Amino acid sequence: MNIADNLRLVQEDIPKGVKLVAVSKTKPNELILEAYKAGQRCFGENKPQELSRKHQELNKDIEWHMIGHLQTNKVKYIAPFVALIHAVDSLKLLKQIDKEAAKHHRCIDFLFQVHIAQEESKFGFNAEELVALIDSEEFKTLEHVNPVGLMGMATFTEDEDQVRAEFKSLTKLFQRLKENQFSTHPHFKEISMGMSGDFKIAIEEGSTMVRVGSSIFGARNYAGISG
Ligand SMILES: *Cc1c(COP(=O)(O)O)cnc(C)c1O
Repeated sequence: MNIADNLRLVQEDIPKGVKLVAVSKTKPNELILEAYKAGQRCFGENKPQELSRKHQELNKDIEWHMIGHLQTNKVKYIAPFVALIHAVDSLKLLKQIDKEAAKHHRCIDFLFQVHIAQEESKFGFNAEELVALIDSEEFKTLEHVNPVGLMGMATFTEDEDQVRAEFKSLTKLFQRLKENQFSTHPHFKEISMGMSGDFKIAIEEGSTMVRVGSSIFGARNYAGISG
C-alpha cells in the first residue's frame, strides 16, 4: 500500500462536509508530497518549528493546521500563515495568538480544546471553565482571533461505547454554545474530533473535521529518523 491508496481508503469513510486533516507530524516532505499529488491540501502538524519549516519548503496552496498543544512562546513561528489552531486551552495562549496575529494584520481561526476523555490530561477546558472564559470581558476585547468551534480527544481505549459517549459530550457542549454564547456567530461551526482509531465513531457523533495520521502515512517512529 502506498500513501495515495491509504488516502483513498480513508476518504471513502469520510462523507462530504467532513474535512480531512492529514496529520503529517514527524513525516518527511517526500511523503507529504505523495499525499499532495493525490489531491490532499490540508495537513496538520503538532510542532510549531516543524510546521513553519514545512510551510516554507512545500507548496504554497497547502492549508496548514496546528493540531497539538501549543506553547505561548512558540505562537510566533506559525502566526504568519497558520490556517487553524486546533487546541487553544488557556486564555493566556489565546491572548498571545491575538497579539501575534495583530502583528501580521491577520485574524486567526481557532478551536477551543475541551477535555472530554476520562484519562488525566493537563490540556483542555471543562464546560464551566469554557463558558466562563467566553463570557469574560477580556475575551470580548480580542480582535485578531476567531473562534470557529471545539476540538476534543477521546480516551485511548478499545471501549467503543466510552469513546462514543465522550464524542457525544463534545457535540452537546458545541450545541449549547452555538445556541447561547455563539448564536450570532455563523463561523462557529466546527467540531474537530476523530483520529485514525476512532474517526468513524466521531463522524457518527457529529464531527466536522477529522485528524488522521497513521492510517494515511503509516505508524510514526519517534525514536529513529522520522519517516
Ligand atoms: C497525532 C495526532 C493525531 C493523529 O493521530 P493518528 O492516530 O495517527 O491518526 C490527531 N490529533 C492530534 C492532536 C494528534 O497529536
